[in-house]
Amino acid sequence: MFHKKVEICSMNVTKKLLSFWIVISLLFSNCQAGAKLLKDELIKPLNVILLIGDGMGLAQICAASVINGGLTLEIFENIGFIKTSSSDDYITDSAAGATAFSTGEKTYNGAIGLAKDSSSRKTIVEMAETKGLATGLISTCSVTHATPASFFAHQLNREMHLEIANDFYGKGIDFVAGTGKPYFNLEKLILDGYKITTSTSKPTLNALEKNFWFYNDSVSPPKVKERGNWLAQATEEGMRCLSNNKKGFFLMVEGSQIDWGGHDQDIDYVTSELIDFDQAVLKAYEYAKTHPNTLIIVTADHETGGLTLNGGSLKNKSVKTNFAHGHHSGIMVPVFAFGPGSHLFRGTYENTEIFRKIKNLMGLQ
Ligand code: MG
Ligand code: ZN
Repeated sequence: MFHKKVEICSMNVTKKLLSFWIVISLLFSNCQAGAKLLKDELIKPLNVILLIGDGMGLAQICAASVINGGLTLEIFENIGFIKTSSSDDYITDSAAGATAFSTGEKTYNGAIGLAKDSSSRKTIVEMAETKGLATGLISTCSVTHATPASFFAHQLNREMHLEIANDFYGKGIDFVAGTGKPYFNLEKLILDGYKITTSTSKPTLNALEKNFWFYNDSVSPPKVKERGNWLAQATEEGMRCLSNNKKGFFLMVEGSQIDWGGHDQDIDYVTSELIDFDQAVLKAYEYAKTHPNTLIIVTADHETGGLTLNGGSLKNKSVKTNFAHGHHSGIMVPVFAFGPGSHLFRGTYENTEIFRKIKNLMGLQ
């Protein structure tokens, strides 16, 4: 009897100790999570890198992930969704989509840096320049094309390439890489203090200068199969040059041709451009790992092609896909964020909130 009583007693003690331990460890882990969240909330990013995969919906990401055996953006833990409609159409174009990111305004399709009543809106790049930060724009298309243009120009229509280029002078943007050389007045660029480089491979750039790196002499850029890892190189070089400003920087990087693959309903074109874009995300991620004051946001302006995945093989790294059409679609697109302030990008919200979140985090006005 006595022996049994001791046994019951010790069992009770064990149970009590166990529950005590569970309570303590829960408290401790909650404390750690709480402290980490508080730290993330308190630290504001010095640098912000916004990477835009034009036309990059979830199906495009899934297809590229299967073919590539995973993507860098899958590492990011703070994830949200944006609604992409423009002011005059449920389906946005890239001009209205990028203007939502750059100015926080829902505008009509085709508008560059203007509100829906065609009045000009200050862009995030112009605000960052006003604050004395370094700024950069990189794209795998002409710098005057809708997405990059919406960050510095104010024009009624995206097709006005010469007027868009004309809006570039005097803005003080520190690093630019892309095509579109014929649209620019090189003398004006030199007067603006730019070192102009035309090179398909990584040049040796002086970080103390303002750099304009044209991929080639023409307007149209080649596909990734010919271009190689130019986008990742430009991103790496852009971050290196912009880091020179100790006040911080804003850099926009666009994987422009994911969209073009969607318009062509060409899955190889889509996935090869997306995997290339993800290499730029990797460069940004590596930079943020060594510069923890850097916030990375990866998102898209819209989906292109109404892409569906109907089958595939993880073993063979292949997917069976179908495009509904060769246009943009109205589906929400994902946002992946990493670094200080990245928790603010969770949830479902309008594309214009990307602008407000970056503006508030960087203290711009
Ligand atoms: Mg674009
Ligand atoms: Zn498009």
